[in-house]
Amino acid sequence: MKFEIAERCGLARTGSLDIDGTVLRTPAMAYIDTPRYPAPYGSPRIRMAADRSKGDISVARSAFSPEFSPADERAHLKPGFRDSPFAPSIKQSEEFVLVDDTTGAMLDSQKFVQWLAKAKSGADLLRPFFCSVIGLPHRLAFLAYCGFDVFDSIALIMSAENGTYLTSSGQLAYDKLEELPCPCAACSSGRRSREELLQHNYTAAQNELRLVRHEISEGTLRDLVEARIRSEPWLVQNLRLMDIEQSTLQELHAPVKGARFHAGAKESLWRPEVTRWKKRIVERYMRPTSAKILLLIPCSAKKPYSISQSHMRFRKAIWASGKGDIVHEVIVTSPLGIVPRELELFYPAQDYDIPVTGHWDRDEKNMVGEMVHWLVSSQHYDLVVSHLGDEREPVNSVLKDFVDTSMGSPGSKDSLQRLEEALRSFDGKATSGGRGIADMRALCRFQFGPAGESLCEGATVTGRWPNLRIVRAGKQLAMLTGDRGMLSLTLDGGKVLAKSGAYSVEIDDFRPKGNLFAVGVEKASPEIRIGDDVVITHGGDARAVGVAKMTPLEMELAERGEAVHIRHVAE
Ligand SMILES: [Zn+2]
Repeated sequence: MKFEIAERCGLARTGSLDIDGTVLRTPAMAYIDTPRYPAPYGSPRIRMAADRSKGDISVARSAFSPEFSPADERAHLKPGFRDSPFAPSIKQSEEFVLVDDTTGAMLDSQKFVQWLAKAKSGADLLRPFFCSVIGLPHRLAFLAYCGFDVFDSIALIMSAENGTYLTSSGQLAYDKLEELPCPCAACSSGRRSREELLQHNYTAAQNELRLVRHEISEGTLRDLVEARIRSEPWLVQNLRLMDIEQSTLQELHAPVKGARFHAGAKESLWRPEVTRWKKRIVERYMRPTSAKILLLIPCSAKKPYSISQSHMRFRKAIWASGKGDIVHEVIVTSPLGIVPRELELFYPAQDYDIPVTGHWDRDEKNMVGEMVHWLVSSQHYDLVVSHLGDEREPVNSVLKDFVDTSMGSPGSKDSLQRLEEALRSFDGKATSGGRGIADMRALCRFQFGPAGESLCEGATVTGRWPNLRIVRAGKQLAMLTGDRGMLSLTLDGGKVLAKSGAYSVEIDDFRPKGNLFAVGVEKASPEIRIGDDVVITHGGDARAVGVAKMTPLEMELAERGEAVHIRHVAE
């Protein structure tokens, strides 16, 4: 059996599981195949080891069975795989990773989350994850989100035996349904028996897995999960526990540039890319030195904010005041808290949508209050101007000395006039050094940590926003592009970054050609996330630059797969 990961979306992944040359695209359902419950034609089967054919997943008989044979020793799954511990005389499966105690984990969310964290933090990460008994259609999105690759059909069979009609949004009583809300062959047949119910349940699971695989490919599985968990408290509590207790693990696997998302649920406040944003602001962010006036403004539905009508009006007032060079615009928003203007292209600042009602809940108010408090107490501005609408109350309540120019209606003519006058009357001018390089330094630091600042030493910024270049002594070091929202390194930029050792992938002494595969990686810096620009080095010598395709742990563990997609190589 061979397992290869194809696409990643957080802990979820699509992959191919090769059993004797028969390839199964995961996440997938494997069907228990017995005379009473034959597996659907042409689908992957789970069979007793003695009866297996090519391509089947095999289950061993108990070692205490009189018919125990050598085939059982080589089986993919042990007897009692539905709830281990396994029969002691058979070795733990080398091939699948299994939950230690499925039934126990099902009842105990704490146990489930802890087991998952343990299994996903070491070498087991690269092995296929098998999920028994609990794979109902409405749970498949969440279970795939947790990183499960293969499910068995036991839950589908048990439901058919109990008269339970399964859908992607929950379970219904078959005999209460006057009309069947599904057009599958079994539901359209006009017959109703356990057989039709079982076939429908199989179809419901297959359809949901098709959708799950699509969402993984698109990088949007979390949105589906936030919708599906509503059907069962167990799912809600598991996702919330994952977000609270395993946010570090989830953040490790979240791409640095992901898909656009809809932050429409309470859980959206704790999405891994959102928690990363807030953590990086606090850990890495430093304001542009010349920006002495903090101006707090509301977000806009249109992204990037700069191109919205409301933000264009704010900027007109700022420039009319003559203080444009020293004003630091910071956007106050949920779920990100704060977005300094120079980071507005960085994921997910231009890639989220929120429902706007004008009423913030307590969690949003607290979060925004905390972030603004952090900003004013750590970044030391000479003047703080609050020019906010709905966010005015939670923000103003954490500010001490400030001017409120909006009075709650930031876009009105009077408010814009007040803003312009407040800025004009501030007694201060820009110090030396242009704002362009100062803003770029803040962005470099946010993307690469403190080491990123070295890219701006003695450099200038050229180009037209949003496509900007960092140039030093005639050489381009990096480029910001509007759609990616982050910096892409040139080899010269890579050489600068290599001196610090940050965002570096160390290889053996060879010259990479084409792409860098995991087998060639010796060591990868722990701060690297999928989608990050990295420099490939050997003993401090920059050999190439490119984009990370795996987590650092996977780069070090894996023997197959592309670790870094290379952009430039050294001659
Ligand atoms: Zn149906």
